[in-house]
Amino acid sequence: VIDSDSLGPEQVGQVIESFGRQVNVESEDGTLTRCHLRANLENPVAGDRVIWQAGDEVGVIVAIEERRSLLSRPDFNGQPKSIAANIDQMLIVVAAQPPAYANLIDRYLVAAEAHGLKAVIVQNKSDIPLDEATEAMLKNYDATGYSLLRASSKSGDGLDELKASLSGAISIFVGQSGVGKSSLVNALLPEANTAVGELSHAADKGRHTTTTARLFHFPDGGDLIDSPGIREFGVQNLDRAAVERGFREFQPYIDQCRFRDCRHESEPDCGLRAAYERGEISETRLQSYRQIIAEIEG
Ligand code: GDP
Repeated sequence: VIDSDSLGPEQVGQVIESFGRQVNVESEDGTLTRCHLRANLENPVAGDRVIWQAGDEVGVIVAIEERRSLLSRPDFNGQPKSIAANIDQMLIVVAAQPPAYANLIDRYLVAAEAHGLKAVIVQNKSDIPLDEATEAMLKNYDATGYSLLRASSKSGDGLDELKASLSGAISIFVGQSGVGKSSLVNALLPEANTAVGELSHAADKGRHTTTTARLFHFPDGGDLIDSPGIREFGVQNLDRAAVERGFREFQPYIDQCRFRDCRHESEPDCGLRAAYERGEISETRLQSYRQIIAEIEG
C-alpha cells in the first residue's frame, strides 16, 4: 500500500529491468530506484519509458509512455508475454563458424521487419575467412539494402564501426549459439555488470538469479537490451503476410503476380518467379522464402 501524500513529483524514467510488479527504473540523472506499480497498470518491460514518483524506500510507476516497438513471445499458455520495449534495431550476428544459413538470417530479417526494427547483419569472427558461397550470400544482403558489418571480438577489427551503428538506438543481438554474441557484448560493454550504475540496496535482491531482459548503456552511446530469450528471438511465430513483408526486395515483384494469393510456385504470371528467371532476385532468398512458408503452413 502506497501513501500518495508522501510521494515526490512525477518524473520520467527508463525501465532497466522488470520483475513483474517490481521494476528497476533509471531516472534522467542515472540513479536507479526499485519501483512498484500503480494498481491496474500493466507490467512494464526493459526499455519502457515511464512516469514515476519517488517514495520513502521504493518508487511507484504511474504510467507507461507509448512504445515505439514491443517484443513479445508466447508464455506457457501460448499467450503473448511482453519482454522488451522501444527496441530500434536487431543485430543479427553470424560467423564463419558455426556456418551462417540464409534460412536463419531470413527468419530474423522477417522478425525485424514485423516489429519495425532496423536489421543489421554482423559478421563476427572476421579473422576467420568465409567460404565463397557464404561470402556471396552476405554480399547479396548488402546489395539488397540490409546493413552488413564485419567485426571480430577477438582482434577488435570493425568494432569502431559497430559502436557507431549502435549509437542513438536501443539494440538487441540475436543469432545462433557460438557465433560470438557474448564475446561481442563483452567487447562493447566492458563493465557489463555495472553498466547502469549502482542499484540501491532494496533494488539489488534477486538480480543475479534473473533471466529477464535487462537494459545496458554502451559507453560510446546507444543501449543494449539483452537476455537469453532475446538472443533467440525471432525464429518462431511467423505468419505468411509477415514473411512476405520480411523479404523486402520481393515486394515490387509480388505486386506483379496475376493472383493476389499467388504462392509463387506453379501459378501462371507469377511476378516473383519471373524476377528470379531474369536474375533479379537471388536463388538462396527464394528458396529460403519457400522453406519458411512451407514450415509455417505445415
Ligand atoms: P555466443 O554463443 O553467440 O554468445 O558465442 P560466444 O561469445 O560464447 O563465442 C563462441 C566462441 O567463439 C568462443 O569460443 C569465442 O572465443 C569464439 N569467438 C568469439 N568471437 C570471436 C572472434 O571474433 N574470432 C574468433 N576466431 N573466435 C571468436
